[in-house]
Amino acid sequence: MLDELISEIEEIIPDASDGLVNDLFETAHAALPAEIVAQFNCLGLRWDDGVLVVGAPEANWPGINEYAQKANLRISLVDVKENDINEAISLVKSIATSKDNTFDITVTEVGEAPISSLVQQIIERSVLERASDVHFEPYTDDLLVRVRIDGRLRPLVTLPVRLGPAISSRIKVLSDMNIVERRRPQDGQFSTTVGGRLIDIRVASVATIHGEKLVLRLHDARRQAVSLEDLGMSGTQLELFSSMIRATNGLILVSGPTGSGKTTTLHGGIKAVTVPWKNVMTIEDPVEFVVQGITQIPIIDPNNAGFAVQLRAVLRQDPDIILVGETRDSETAIISIQAALTGHLVFSSIHATDSVGAVYRLLQMGIEAHLVASSLRGVIAQRLIRRNCRYCTKSYPVTGAEEKILTLYGMEATTLRKGVGCTLCGGSGFRDRIATYQVLEMTESLSDLIVSHPEPNEFRRYAQATGMTSMDHEAVRLAVEGITTLDEALTLMVSSE
Ligand SMILES: [Zn+2]
Repeated sequence: MLDELISEIEEIIPDASDGLVNDLFETAHAALPAEIVAQFNCLGLRWDDGVLVVGAPEANWPGINEYAQKANLRISLVDVKENDINEAISLVKSIATSKDNTFDITVTEVGEAPISSLVQQIIERSVLERASDVHFEPYTDDLLVRVRIDGRLRPLVTLPVRLGPAISSRIKVLSDMNIVERRRPQDGQFSTTVGGRLIDIRVASVATIHGEKLVLRLHDARRQAVSLEDLGMSGTQLELFSSMIRATNGLILVSGPTGSGKTTTLHGGIKAVTVPWKNVMTIEDPVEFVVQGITQIPIIDPNNAGFAVQLRAVLRQDPDIILVGETRDSETAIISIQAALTGHLVFSSIHATDSVGAVYRLLQMGIEAHLVASSLRGVIAQRLIRRNCRYCTKSYPVTGAEEKILTLYGMEATTLRKGVGCTLCGGSGFRDRIATYQVLEMTESLSDLIVSHPEPNEFRRYAQATGMTSMDHEAVRLAVEGITTLDEALTLMVSSE
C-alpha cells in the first residue's frame, strides 16, 4: 500500500508546477545562470522584444549589467524589493526542483513520511505563491488541490483521489482533529515555518460525496497592521475617516463581505488612535494582527462567550477604545451603541453590501433610529480588487469603449495601465490587492433624516448628493491612476449595488 502511494506521488510530482508556468516568462527565469541569480539576487521576469527584463534590488544592478555585457545579453532592469525577490527565487527553485522530479521523497522512507512531506511541500508552495487558502477537493478520480491567490482560486496540482484519506489524516493529526471521524465537519489549527516565516493555519473539514474536503486558511503570523495612509483611501476619504476616529466617543462601522479587508481597515483605525494613556481593548474572531500595547481577546467559545458576553466584560475593564470584531446580532449591537453613547469610541464590522446598507442593518436589528442617529459617526464600506503587478505594468492607449466608460464616471484619460505578466505575478499581470472604499459620514443632516425613517434609496440619494461616492467610482479612479485595470474596476459595478 505504502509503496503504491510513493510511486503515485512520484508520478504526480512533475505536474506540481501546473497553472503557474506561462509561455511569456517560462524561459525568462531560466535565462540567467544559477550562480548569477545567487550572486546578485536577481531573476529574469519576462521577455520584451528580445530584451530580458531582470528584477533585482537596485544596489545589485552594476554587477548584473557587467555580466550581461560579457554574456552579450540585452537586458533592462526593474527594481524589486528584497523580500519579493527572495520569495520569487525560492518559488522558481521549488518549481524547477519539482520539474526534475527530485523532491526529497525517496522510496527508502518509511511510515507516513512521503505523505507528510507532500503536505509540507504543498503548503510551502502555496505560501511562496502568496496563497491565502489551500483547498483539497476530492472528485470521482482526482483530488484537486487549488489555491486562492489575490482572491481567486487556481489549480495547484491534481493528485489521485486515493491519496485523499492519507492526506486528510496527516493534516488532521497536525491540527489536533479526530482522524477517525470522517463524516462530521471539524476544525482545528496548526503552525508551520516556511522560509523563516511562521504561518498559522486554520483547517476546516467537511464530508462530500467523494470523501473529505479540507480547506486550509494560511495566515502569516508576522503580518503587521498597516497605517491609515497605506489603506489606499482617496485624500477626501482619508480626511473623513481620520476625523471620525479622532472623536472620543461614538460608533464607527466597517462593512463588506468576508475577505474584503475589513480587519485591516479596523486595525488601521485603531493603530492611528492608540496612545499610551488610553485603554484599547479588542474582541476578535480570530485575532489576525497581534498589536503591542492593546488588549486583544479572542472568541474561543462562541456559544457561551460570544461577542455580547465578552463586550459586557470589556465594559467592566475601564476601556477608552473598543473594537468589536463583528456585530452579528442585536444584543451585540445594543451594547455597542450603549457603549458608544456613554463615552467610548467603538469600532466594529457589520455585514452589508454598502455603507447605507450597514445603517439599515442596525435598524433591522431593532436599534431605534434616534439611537443610530446619536451614536453612529460613520460607515466605511469596502471591496478588494486586484492590483496591477508593479513589476510588469505597461501603459496603453485608451480604446473607444473604455473612453465611453470613463465619461460615464466623469473621468478621462489618454492611457491606462495593465500588467503583461511576469515571474513575480505568476503571469497573471496582477499582484496583491487594494481596497476601494465608500465613506459615509453621518452628518447632522443625515442624522436628522434617519429619524424620519426614509426608504434606503432616498437616504442613499441624499448621501450621494452630499458627497458620498460609490465603490465602483473609486475603483475606476484607481484604474485612471494606473493602479488597477479598468476591467478589474468594473467587476465592482455589478457587486456594489
Ligand atoms: Zn508581473
